[in-house]
Amino acid sequence: MKRVVIVGMGFGGIRAANGLGGKGLDVLVLDRQNFHLFQPLLYQVATAMLGQESIAHSIRSIIRHYKGVHFEMAEVQGIDLDKKQVITATASIPYDYLVIATGSVTNFFGNEEVKKHAFDLKQLDDAVTLRNHVLSVFERAVKEPDPKVREALMTFVIVGGGPTGTEFAGSLSELTHHVLTKDYPELPVQNSKIILLEASEHVLGPFPKKLQEYAKRRLQRMGVTVRLKTPVSGATFDRVFLKDGGEIPAYTLFWSAGVQAAPLSGVLPVPKGRGGRIVVQPDLSLKEHPEVFVIGDMAHLEQDGTPLPMLAPVAMQEGEYVAKAIVQREQGGQIKPFRYWDKGTMAVIGRSSAVANVGPLKLMGFFAWLAWLGLHLFYLIGFRNRVLTAIDWAFDYLFFDRQVRLITRERSEPADQESHVQNTEVPEQQQHVEAQVEGTGTARGHEIAQGRNAKEKVPA
Ligand SMILES: Cc1cc2nc3c(=O)[nH]c(=O)nc-3n(C[C@H](O)[C@H](O)[C@H](O)COP(=O)(O)OP(=O)(O)OC[C@H]3O[C@@H](n4cnc5c(N)ncnc54)[C@H](O)[C@@H]3O)c2cc1C
Repeated sequence: MKRVVIVGMGFGGIRAANGLGGKGLDVLVLDRQNFHLFQPLLYQVATAMLGQESIAHSIRSIIRHYKGVHFEMAEVQGIDLDKKQVITATASIPYDYLVIATGSVTNFFGNEEVKKHAFDLKQLDDAVTLRNHVLSVFERAVKEPDPKVREALMTFVIVGGGPTGTEFAGSLSELTHHVLTKDYPELPVQNSKIILLEASEHVLGPFPKKLQEYAKRRLQRMGVTVRLKTPVSGATFDRVFLKDGGEIPAYTLFWSAGVQAAPLSGVLPVPKGRGGRIVVQPDLSLKEHPEVFVIGDMAHLEQDGTPLPMLAPVAMQEGEYVAKAIVQREQGGQIKPFRYWDKGTMAVIGRSSAVANVGPLKLMGFFAWLAWLGLHLFYLIGFRNRVLTAIDWAFDYLFFDRQVRLITRERSEPADQESHVQNTEVPEQQQHVEAQVEGTGTARGHEIAQGRNAKEKVPA
């Protein structure tokens, strides 16, 4: 029986696994975490609207319905394309077909200072860390005698006016103005500042002008200061520096100004496009290795002269496509080149307000918001997650309140426990590969943790 290995169980991997289940193939899914994450709602975890468990779903419980599909929790560190083997910390796993669907990471464009001090949102614990931080700065502001430091504690700088930055800014504004004003009567929370910095001339870059203008006006009405054509040059734990020479005292810097292919792309000797995305053939395979497919945020494929965007629907359609392509190949058939069907894009700004660009339809306001809610509930995985999310949304909408206002301290496992769970010995040759996978899991987590620690040290 031929073996298909799928690396990454995000939006693309899950569709590929679903399409390959029950097709007489041995399908092995590898992911460094044991859950599928619904990234579009991460900002709601970061702003205390949803609990982290509402937007994640166990991979094992998803795949138990897919015949012939197995899961192993492992971080892939390299791929030997010639030997057709996937390399993890503990094993080399052979494959006949490989689907690479490892998504993307935040792009700080080489600005180490910003990388050290900024928060970003890519993984579940990023969202929990950011929520902890946002709530902690208010706790610290209560005790802070110096008005200047207090003001900086209650200033939030968001870099990047794309959908993530815009959604986070809107949701943070509602958290502070609707909820935290009631929690902190001793603080002038209404004076807290949320500043959205965008390097280009518009927020929501890919949307039509009319919707961009609506989003900007709406954010401003919600108390968000929108500064366009304002690139950031650097940061310290309590200050954000602008390219025009200005600076903003702020203990919170949230970075959503760019994404790039996941670090695994860096260890593969294949042509790359912008942001390290791997250039693929029209059937999403590699030119020199037709048995290897790359999908989702990792893949660079141009359609009508432009690269496909890094969006969940692209990854999902590509996942479905490669499953069909592999099955067809096994049956000796051919499949037409992949073509992305753009059903439209949406972004939410706040309660009763969103924008939707669906073909000729340019929706904004309440109906766009309703459509956004419905669509996100529909795509969220797991019945329980949908119910929990709907309840939390209804609660927030009706009572102007958010349930998850918890400052939690994440504790790592004792070292001896950890060594029992994972064999951390890495063969010499793999250590080399690991060293090349810059910024993956632990290494990057460590750097971010240093940034967070630095932020947390001073205001105490
Ligand atoms: C905050 C945020 C908001 C977003 N909002 C929207 C939105 O509103 N609409 C939209 O369409 N898109 C949105 N996106 C983009 C969308 O989430 C991505 O385009 C989509 O997730 C890409 O799917 P993927 O399958 O390529 O990768 P992912 O869904 O990122 O999945 C990658 C998987 O690979 C695993 N992985 C990574 N590296 C390794 C490794 N070395 N070994 C093993 N496993 C590995 C990860 O654990 C993960 O499970 C948003 C993204 C973010 C971060």
